[in-house]
Amino acid sequence: MSDDRLHAEIEWREDGQPLSRAFDDVYFSGGSSPQEGLEETRYVFLQQNRLPERFAALADGDVFTIGETGFGTGLNFLAARDLWRQSAPTGARLHFVSVEKFPLHRGDLERALALWPQLQPLAGQLLEQYPPFCARGVHRLQFGPVSLTLAIGEASEAFAGLRLGDNHRDRNVDAWFLDGFAPAKNPAMWTPALFENIAALSQPGATFATFTCAGIVKRGLKGAGFALQKVPGFGRKREMLRGRLKETGEPRIASTPWHLPSGSKSPSPLERGAGGEGEPKAQSIAIIGAGIAGATTARALAERGHRVTVFEQGPGPAAGASGNDQGILYAKLSPKPGPNGDFNLHALMFAQRYYRRQCPQSVHLDGLLQLAQSGKETGLQGQIDDLLQQHGARALAQRVDAAGASEIAGLPLEFGGLYFPQAGWLEPRRVCAALLEHENIELRCNTRIESLEHGKDGWQLHGTPAGNAEPQLGKALVEPARAHPDAELGLGVPGGSFRADTVIICTANAIRRFPQTAALPLRPIRGQVSGAVATDYSRRLQTALCGEGYLIPGASGHQSFGASFKLKDTDTALRDREHRENLETLAALLPEMAAEFAAQPLTGRAALRAATPDYLPMAGPVPDWDSIASTYAELRKNRKFLIPQRAHYQPNLFVLGGLGSRGFTYAPLAAELLAAWVGGEVLPVPVELAKALHPARFAVRDLGKNR
Ligand code: SAM
Repeated sequence: MSDDRLHAEIEWREDGQPLSRAFDDVYFSGGSSPQEGLEETRYVFLQQNRLPERFAALADGDVFTIGETGFGTGLNFLAARDLWRQSAPTGARLHFVSVEKFPLHRGDLERALALWPQLQPLAGQLLEQYPPFCARGVHRLQFGPVSLTLAIGEASEAFAGLRLGDNHRDRNVDAWFLDGFAPAKNPAMWTPALFENIAALSQPGATFATFTCAGIVKRGLKGAGFALQKVPGFGRKREMLRGRLKETGEPRIASTPWHLPSGSKSPSPLERGAGGEGEPKAQSIAIIGAGIAGATTARALAERGHRVTVFEQGPGPAAGASGNDQGILYAKLSPKPGPNGDFNLHALMFAQRYYRRQCPQSVHLDGLLQLAQSGKETGLQGQIDDLLQQHGARALAQRVDAAGASEIAGLPLEFGGLYFPQAGWLEPRRVCAALLEHENIELRCNTRIESLEHGKDGWQLHGTPAGNAEPQLGKALVEPARAHPDAELGLGVPGGSFRADTVIICTANAIRRFPQTAALPLRPIRGQVSGAVATDYSRRLQTALCGEGYLIPGASGHQSFGASFKLKDTDTALRDREHRENLETLAALLPEMAAEFAAQPLTGRAALRAATPDYLPMAGPVPDWDSIASTYAELRKNRKFLIPQRAHYQPNLFVLGGLGSRGFTYAPLAAELLAAWVGGEVLPVPVELAKALHPARFAVRDLGKNR
């Protein structure tokens, strides 16, 4: 069977059920009707893993993780979610991690899910979030307390790609659904490597259930340390297998673990609870900075049940580079695999879903045109378009010529480009304020954190009042719904200090002000955006445009365009010169509009982006820089040396920054990644990508170059 297929090829049987043409096997069995298929799923995977009892025994704050081979139609996922909503406590969370080599086309998925009206509205919600481009890599979908991590690729490789290489941190899965076409029809999936990866991702005592009793599966599971039990199969089927992991071996480390903090699963006290058994698992987390990095991180952690206090030196959220009136949601895709293109693609798809879910009132995601203003860009877009067509992913983006672009834009354009129907623009300040509105988040504005100190009681944050106003509890924009138990210790008092278990620094260029993070290679890039009052002509613009610059539609009577890009310039005063530059950039797209705007007194705002040398953000734990340098000193001689030791890390200190010009696109996925680092969860990106976003990457690369 050829492996260059990208999607499932489905044949619809007369009884309405899907059959895989390539594997000549059914997606779900159970006899004659889809209803029996659902019952079989419930019997084989839910009951034999004892999920009804296990879900019901969970407490608020608990996390349960299910792993699955073969996502297929998502029936198993929906059945598990259905059971979860009936039996798990509202404060617990379910992670469902599934791999799929041949994802269904959306139309096939829609048709399959229509077979179970009783799984509505869950099926509708899955369809709503199903990625427009099922690209290789990891897709994280969120359904309230249930998250779905869908890894597209060969099962064994996809699971290997989720392994950090840490015997404690990797052991997340509580129960396995070993689905996948029957071993006789699909022997290539059921390999020893698959079973090894499954065991490495399992908690001690993790259970599994599978419909098959084939020898290859029994041998594989036994070899990986599982104890097996044959039980009667569903309906007329004689038998099936279930069991649990009895031995957990040490994982084989194939690369230098510079990305892993020394010590055990928890650099964070989040999972163990400060006071030991019976104590609540939620801990206090301090986030410094209430721009889009801080707001998305606060939200991700608050939704996991933690108590989050956000400190902001400005009078309200989004006081720095996130504070423009309008911002665009766009990404730079690449036709070739690689960390920048991969992260851009996955971050864009994640962000599109995220803002629609979290703050639909503050976003306008009804289309964006990325115009090709050079031959090079046209060529690149052509390759991207080919790739999207091959994957049936035109719902993400499609190429349009100048006439098509003009029609979409509602104004004559000279250039064609890529049209992203689900991207667009947003209102940054409202987005940040909306994200911070959560009962577990308290925002303390006008409070500048000057230094951080770690002691036996966790972190102390020392601060001073900033700005003219007295420190306030962020009432201007965000009313905390719940009094913070640490409030009396906090920075309500000028010059006070605040205790937290975990600290996350999200202060853009000011990340470097703290000695612990001063070594991070961030550089400021000044950007000035210009604003004009919309004219009759400019109001005709229907969609956000970007190319050499960007332009946002004037729904509110106001239009932003820009932005300048000045490396190493740290001045934030408005400059006429840069307004003129922005007008020139606009004139290359829409000369008439530029002329009309040039006749107005323009408004504007200049702020500093914070960029990294490789233009990827950083999201993750903060190392002890001396320890990195000494532990991996041998990399100076040969950057390929395999050094199995771990370096020391700053205890429970994390950073999210370096978002450059794409903060609103990058932040939601970067924050989800950060929350996964903090809580020791399955990551929402493949490990290789997490390493490409890791704060320690620069130090390790420098060692490899003997710098
Ligand atoms: N669990 C699914 C459901 O609830 O609809 C049904 C799974 S179906 C029986 C088997 C799935 O395994 C198919 O979607 C197939 O594409 C996928 N699959 C087959 N071989 C695979 C491999 N080597 N790696 C990853 N997925 C594979």
